[in-house]
This record gives sequence, C-alpha cells and structure tokens, in this order.
Amino acid sequence: MPLINEHYLKLAGGYLFPEIDRRVQAYVHDHPESAAHVIRCGIGDVTEPLPLAVREAMHKAVDEMGVRETFKGYGPPFGHEFIRKAIAKNDFQDYGLDVEADEIFLSDGSKGDCGAVLDILANDGANRIGITDPVYPVYVDTNVMVGNTGPAKEGGGYEELVYLPCIAEHNFVPEIPKQSLDVIYLCYPNNPTGSMITRDQLTAWVRYALANNAVILYDVAYQAFLRDPSGELPRSIYEIHGANRCAMEFHSFSKDGGFTGLRCGYTVCPKELKGRRSDGEEVSMHRLWSRRWSTKSNGVSYIVQRAAEAMYSEAGKEQVRALIDFYLGNAAILREGCEAMGLEVYGGINAPYVWVGCPDGVDSWGMFDRMLEQANVVVTPGSGFGRCGEGYFRISAFNSRENVEEVVRRMKAMADQGEPLHTS
Ligand code: PLP
Repeated sequence: MPLINEHYLKLAGGYLFPEIDRRVQAYVHDHPESAAHVIRCGIGDVTEPLPLAVREAMHKAVDEMGVRETFKGYGPPFGHEFIRKAIAKNDFQDYGLDVEADEIFLSDGSKGDCGAVLDILANDGANRIGITDPVYPVYVDTNVMVGNTGPAKEGGGYEELVYLPCIAEHNFVPEIPKQSLDVIYLCYPNNPTGSMITRDQLTAWVRYALANNAVILYDVAYQAFLRDPSGELPRSIYEIHGANRCAMEFHSFSKDGGFTGLRCGYTVCPKELKGRRSDGEEVSMHRLWSRRWSTKSNGVSYIVQRAAEAMYSEAGKEQVRALIDFYLGNAAILREGCEAMGLEVYGGINAPYVWVGCPDGVDSWGMFDRMLEQANVVVTPGSGFGRCGEGYFRISAFNSRENVEEVVRRMKAMADQGEPLHTS
C-alpha cells in the first residue's frame, strides 16, 4: 500500500460548505414539507445566466472547432495570446498599470490557483504564513495539505499558521504584524466580510512585504463589485508602488461573468517578483510559475477562452456591468432589511456579501440553525471562516430578486415573532 499524505488527516471538520449542506439535508429530511421553501443564501454561487456576448462567443468558437481550418488543438498552457492581451489591456493597461500579457496566466478558476501557488513555494513549514481571520477557507486548507501547519487547534485554527485578526473596529482589515511573515494572503473586496481595504492600508501592506521580503497573495475575485466613484479604493494591488516586486494577484471570471460553472480565471505573476533559495540566491517566481503551468497543465479550453475574451467586448462589458448592478441591488436590499431590524450590518456595498452581527447571546451556528428552522433561509455561519467570524453570519446576494425580498420578509417576520434578531 502506498504511503498517503498524512497532512490531509489534519483537516478539521471538513470544508465549511459540505457541513452546511449536511445540516440543510438533515433539516429537509426531517421537514420534507419545507424542501421547496428553502432559500439558499449560503454558498457564493451566482444565480443569473451567462451574458449574451459570452454565449455568442462560445457558439462561434464551437463552430470553429468543427472546421479543419479553424480547429484548435492544444493551446499554450498559460492561455492564448488573444485572451492574455485582452486581460492585460482591459484590466491593467487601461487603468495605467504596467502589467503585460506574458505576466497573465489563464486557469480554470481562482480556487485552483490559490492552492497551486504553493507548488512554487517551499512548504512543510519553511515559510511563515499569515492568513486573515475570518478568511476564505481554501487558503487555510491548502496550506494544511502541504504541511505548512501543525495540527488543528482546540477551538479552531491550526498550529503554526499566523492568524491576522480582522475586526469590525478596523473595518475587517488586519493590522500590520510586528513579526516577520513570508507569505500573506489578502482578499479585497473581502469574502466573507464584504469589506474593502483603503489605498493607505494596502500601501502599508506592500511596504511591509517589501521590507520583510514577503509575498502578498492578493485575491480580487470580487473586483467587479468595487463601485467607488472617488477612485480612492484600490482595484488592484499593482496600483501600489512596488507591488510588482512583492505580489501575485488572483482573478476569477466566476462572480463577474457568472463563470462558476464554465470555469476560468487568471493569476498575475510579475516578472520582477523574486523568491529565494535556501542559500539566499534570488530566483524569478515568474520563471517557476511558468514552469509549473507548462508541466502540470494544458490550459483552458479554447471555447472558454473565447467566452472570457467576450467579456471585454463593448457589449460584454455592458452586460457584465448589468449583472453586477443586479447583485449589488440585491445586496442593498439585504443590507437595508437587516439594518431596519436593528442588526449590526457590514459589507454589501462593494461586495456581494452582507456580514451581519448575530443578536445578543446567539453564536454563528446557532444563528445558522435559527435562520434555517424559523425562516428556511440558508446563511453561512461566520465562525466557519475562522475564530474571528464567531458572532457573525454571512448572507449572499447571489440570488433572484424575488428570493432576496422574501428573505428580508421572513427575517422581519422572525423579528416580529420575538425571535432575537435585534441586537438590543
Ligand atoms: N477567491 C475567493 C475569495 C472566493 O470567494 C472564491 C469563490 O467563492 C474564489 C476565489 C474561487 O473562484 P473560482 O470560481 O474562480 O475558483
């Protein structure tokens, strides 16, 4: 029998969403009459169909694949030039940022990239890893799998990871640590809190990373939700001077183009970004990342690459904007509904997530159960995202307008019946 990777056995309690699913299934099993009534505002999956421009591009690409002259076999492992150029221009150069097409690496989505990046870093605890708390659980679990943590701790979290608390008083942005870290995960607009980092705060993190020879893994899966007319909030970490020497950026087409089922995303790995060997010699991370892709992948399907490209057409941009406006409209309804009930509410302005303080005396899973049982609404318990998420729950705005309005109505009915929805 082969020896297994025992780090997997450290993973505590399974991944958050399977546990939510298990509880929902158990509830529906015991209350079959409620099955059709349950509204899922838990997992961050989009609900609206793909934009027309994306569908048209795929139809065309399918037809190209059916003709010998335009058929495409294996493509470059990092993505065809047409999409890498479209990304570099539309997401960076048009904003005055110096990111080139050969620094873009196309993938089947950003979840995989968040784990794959550990391929080019030393693992088994060789790097000190800083992870925000609460956090998108994938960063944590992928580090557990490669041996960057000790065992799970009583009460949550893992030994040896450095948790960076994100609390309401600091708008859910972690303070700069006193100790030196090698790898830092940041995500803004943030999942799960829906909060946004300011330019000054991100500048402080870039300075810290440069001073400590650290790399920031900056996840902008929710970039499209950032609606900041003042231009004060940073869309990309590369807006910050020096970030090309200390940051990789992770992008997803899942939440803006609705690609959760289609699958596409990309990373930016700047050519100036360096890591070091154990003897101290500097090595280009771009070189290693390129090598990693060409060895482990044959890239994204041609049809999907054309679909992603279509998001940057004039029609595509307009349709994507309309999609995001729709979800932000949902988020506003959820926000206002929760506020009107006297709940403590964050997020939902530059993000599709509304982060809500549990009423007095109820913990996150308690609130999850209460929402499921009393309102038949599935939310995500904040504690599932980390210890600092305890006392909160997350409501996702990815839903139909009808469902979102119904969620607010049901929560209000709960409050009217005296369920402790009010904080005071
Ligand atoms: N990063 C964050 C913060 C996310 O919330 C998600 C998905 O929910 C992802 C990455 C994964 O996105 P993708 O669908 O591109 O794998």
